Amino acid sequence: MTCWNFSAGPAVLPAAVLSKVQKELLSYQDSEMSVMELSHRSSLFQHIISDAEKSLRNLMGIPDNYHVLFVQGGASTQFASIPMNLLKDKKAGYVISGSWGKKAFEEADKLYPGQAIVIADSTSNKHTEIPDVIIENESEFDYIHITTNNTIEGTAYHTIPKFKNVPLVADMSSNILSADYNVSDFGLIYAGAQKNIGPAGLTIVIVREDLIAMNSASIPTMMDYQTHIKNQSLYNTPPTFPIYVSKLVFDWLQELGGVSKMIEINQKKANLLYQTISESHLYTSPVHPDYRSLTNIPFVTGDTDLDKKFIAEAEEAGFVNLKGHRSVGGMRASLYNAFPLEGVEALVTFMKEFEQREGLAK
Ligand SMILES: *Cc1c(COP(=O)(O)O)cnc(C)c1O
Repeated sequence: MTCWNFSAGPAVLPAAVLSKVQKELLSYQDSEMSVMELSHRSSLFQHIISDAEKSLRNLMGIPDNYHVLFVQGGASTQFASIPMNLLKDKKAGYVISGSWGKKAFEEADKLYPGQAIVIADSTSNKHTEIPDVIIENESEFDYIHITTNNTIEGTAYHTIPKFKNVPLVADMSSNILSADYNVSDFGLIYAGAQKNIGPAGLTIVIVREDLIAMNSASIPTMMDYQTHIKNQSLYNTPPTFPIYVSKLVFDWLQELGGVSKMIEINQKKANLLYQTISESHLYTSPVHPDYRSLTNIPFVTGDTDLDKKFIAEAEEAGFVNLKGHRSVGGMRASLYNAFPLEGVEALVTFMKEFEQREGLAK
C-alpha cells in the first residue's frame, strides 16, 4: 500500500533523492566510504558543502553580501543566537503570528528582558490571521522578527512587510524554497532543514554581512555567527549527512525548474485541498482566506470525535501524520515541496468518500 506522509516535520523527502542516497550510501564517489564516514575536512566533503551553498544561493538568488551558514541546534537555537548577534542597545520587535513566533519572542525576552518587545500579536483571533505591523519609529529597533509561515496554525505572509531602516529577521523553517521572497528584503533568514529541505539536524542561516560586523566578544563561540563565517561552517563538525542530503534536494529542485516551478506545483496542490474543503459540508478551514499557507493546511469537521475517526480511517488507508498539532486539534496536511500532487489527489478522494460514508455529502 502506498503511504502518503503528511508530517509537519521531519517530513517527506523526494523519492528520487532517497534513491540517490541509497545508491551512493556504501561508497560515495568510489571512495569505499559512506558520506557519514567522511572527514568533514576531506576534499570530498568540502565539495559537498560548497556545492550545497552554491545551489542554495542559486535557488534563492542570495546576494554576495549575505553569508550562508550550515549549523546545528534547530530553529530553536536560533531563537537565542539571533538576539545575541543582532540585538545591540536598541529593541527587538517581535510579531507573534503563531506558536513559533511566541517561542522566538520568549527566548529573546529571557535573555534581554525589556529589550525584546511584542509589536503585533494575533493571539486574540487564535492566529487565524497574520497581524499588521505598524511601527512609528523604526530607529528604536535593532531588528523586527517575523515567522513567514506558521507551521502549526497554517497561515503565511503573502506580502512581506517592508521597513526602511530596520532589518527584518524571518523564521522560514516551513516555507523556505516554497515562496518567492526576495532575500534583500531581509537582514537574516533562518530555517530548520527538516521541514522543507532535508533531514533533521541541519539549520540554515542566511545573514547580511554588515549586521554582524561589530559582534560583541562575549557571544558564546558556537552561537557567534562570525565563528561559522570565518570557518565556512567548519569550525567544528557540521551535520555532514544532512548537508549532503540537502544538497541533493537542492539539485532536485533545480532540475525541476527551481523555486518558481515549485510554487506553481505547490499552488496546484494547495488549491485542490482548499477547494475540496470549501465545497464540502463536512470540512472547514479555520484560517482566514487571505492568509492561508501553501505548505501547512489545517482543516476540521467541527466534531472532535469525528476528527479522530477521520484520522484513524485515513491512517488505515495509508494517509499518515494527518493529526493536527496538539495545540490546534483537527487535521493538518503538510504539503511541502517533496510531497507529490498525486498524494493530494488521493487525499481529496478519501475525504469525499469519508464525507459520503458519514452521510453528510451534498
Ligand atoms: C518546526 C519549527 C521550528 C522549530 O524548529 P526546530 O528545528 O525543531 O528547533 C521553529 N519555527 C518554525 C516556523 C517551525 O516550523
